Amino acid sequence: MARARVENKETRMATEPRWSYERVASSGEADGRTCIFCGKQIGGESQPGHWVKKAVEDNQDADFILEDGYAHHACTQERLAQERKSRFALPDVPQGPGGR
Ligand SMILES: [Zn+2]
Repeated sequence: MARARVENKETRMATEPRWSYERVASSGEADGRTCIFCGKQIGGESQPGHWVKKAVEDNQDADFILEDGYAHHACTQERLAQERKSRFALPDVPQGPGGR
């Protein structure tokens, strides 16, 4: 596994997949799952959020879902509020794990 792939890192970072809100899930669907934002288990949520990570492709017609997950209603709302706020703020450098 020593063959590290060093392919234009800047492009990869720019297209880092982010969680995007998909829809409201049913409570049974998310029960027992781990919240993608706070890391706690979901149980008895009436409106858990279903989130997906999509690969960013040039072709906007094709959605490649890399990962999906559930979040508490509160965590979902908080995250959406943050994203709304950041849309008005200056573009931030994403602080991904191991970003630098
Ligand atoms: Zn949560």
